[in-house]
Amino acid sequence: MQKFMSKLLEQFIAFQKERSLYEHAVALLHWDLTTHAPELGKEHTTETLAYFSTKLFSLTTSAQYGEMLEKLAGPEEYESLSEAMKVTVDRFLKEYREQARIPEDFYSELVTARAQSGQAWEKAKRASDYSIFKPHLQKMIELSRQTAAYTNPGEETYNVFLNQFEEGLDSDTVDRLFEEVKAGLAPLLKHIRNSRHPDWSIVSGDYDIDKEKKVQDLLLEYIGFDFNAGTTGESEHPFTTELSRHDSRVTNHYSPSDPIDYMFSAIHEGGHAIFQQSIDPAYENTAAAYVNMMGLHESQSRFFENILGRNVNFWIPVYDRICDLMPGLRKVPLDDFNLLINDVKPSFIRTRADEVTYCLHIILRYELETAIFRGNADVSDLPDMWNDKMEQLLGIRPENDADGILQDMHWADGMFGYFPTYLLGSIYDGMYLKAVERDLGSIDSLLAQGRVKDITAWLQTNIQQHGSLYPAPKIMERIGQGNISAAPLLDYFNSKYYKLY
Ligand SMILES: [Zn+2]
Repeated sequence: MQKFMSKLLEQFIAFQKERSLYEHAVALLHWDLTTHAPELGKEHTTETLAYFSTKLFSLTTSAQYGEMLEKLAGPEEYESLSEAMKVTVDRFLKEYREQARIPEDFYSELVTARAQSGQAWEKAKRASDYSIFKPHLQKMIELSRQTAAYTNPGEETYNVFLNQFEEGLDSDTVDRLFEEVKAGLAPLLKHIRNSRHPDWSIVSGDYDIDKEKKVQDLLLEYIGFDFNAGTTGESEHPFTTELSRHDSRVTNHYSPSDPIDYMFSAIHEGGHAIFQQSIDPAYENTAAAYVNMMGLHESQSRFFENILGRNVNFWIPVYDRICDLMPGLRKVPLDDFNLLINDVKPSFIRTRADEVTYCLHIILRYELETAIFRGNADVSDLPDMWNDKMEQLLGIRPENDADGILQDMHWADGMFGYFPTYLLGSIYDGMYLKAVERDLGSIDSLLAQGRVKDITAWLQTNIQQHGSLYPAPKIMERIGQGNISAAPLLDYFNSKYYKLY
């Protein structure tokens, strides 16, 4: 914090506070709608949500806000700002200017088209019929292209999308990283495909959902989730809502027939929440407290879920306690459990994929997105292109569009450039793993000793406390890992899976 605060900065901080109050209300209403709201109450809550969202939008697009940002960006004011406040001014001014370049009637066309596209996608997916979605996808592609032309004139369209979700990365870097992953995984997958796979019938049974919830709480506590600054809920798809560093909420979806999947959702969402809980309180009401870099966020949730959670040593100190809570798991020895949670097998659906083939699901989407925006691929050809790529990358071919191009909602929302952030998160994880082992020693022995919270503390100190102050390339530099590379992730996969298979 600077010693002398200008009148302007004081005003701006008050404005930021107001902005965060609206954001809090919007997030809380959204959480309520997707978790606890009774069916009949939803309409009114939706109306309230729309009201506060509109208020928030007019606040952040108001002339007053723009003027304050422009003035703070002037050399006199800017130089006296704290690092977090500089980032706030840079990011919000960029966002403000971009937003201001979008004509109002175009924006409302976009909002309407997005809503229609979402509905068409749902219908198409249910019917497994791409033709229902095709015209809407065409429209979302055109509108997204146009949006980028308005907000960032003269820039390469796909680069604009990438930057929107992961600041500091360009498409040349992503091309290079994904090529590395693709080439590096081919021999491992070939080896695994010819190996024996575990028998899942060993976990079949009827499990008690209330007990699953208790296991979830145990796992969250185990990795360092702070229940005084967070809570849990239930929803169709697991997600995390971040209201503030003192209030992070994770949801889960439980199933009586699957005693494993929800555990990994808990660890994954718990990772997102711990990140939020660990941000330096000094960043309150600054942009550093909002982690809008999706690759960075995913790198935390995936580190917990995959690097820690899919390591057998993670389970050694708690497996007995978990079996006490869920006696049905007693029949599954830890060694078998380990084989199940690391069963690498090509499958159609991304969200159910293992940690290795998952990477190829993302590369498939990335290559299609770049084919659309750099190569003008025809939407009529996309389902076949999808299936061909799946065959080429994973050796399997979907028999219908629901298992293929219609499985994800991202494109229906116009969220092009989002998918790559999932894989970027895993690539960063490989690099963190190297740094953690350099600083704390073997992760296997730390985990086996029940010291998972030491690893959490490392992540908090080196990454999480900074919120979104540093983009990924800067973080890698700070933890002594140099240029972003996929090699550490590939080393991790190779050393782990050649032992298991
Ligand atoms: Zn996530």
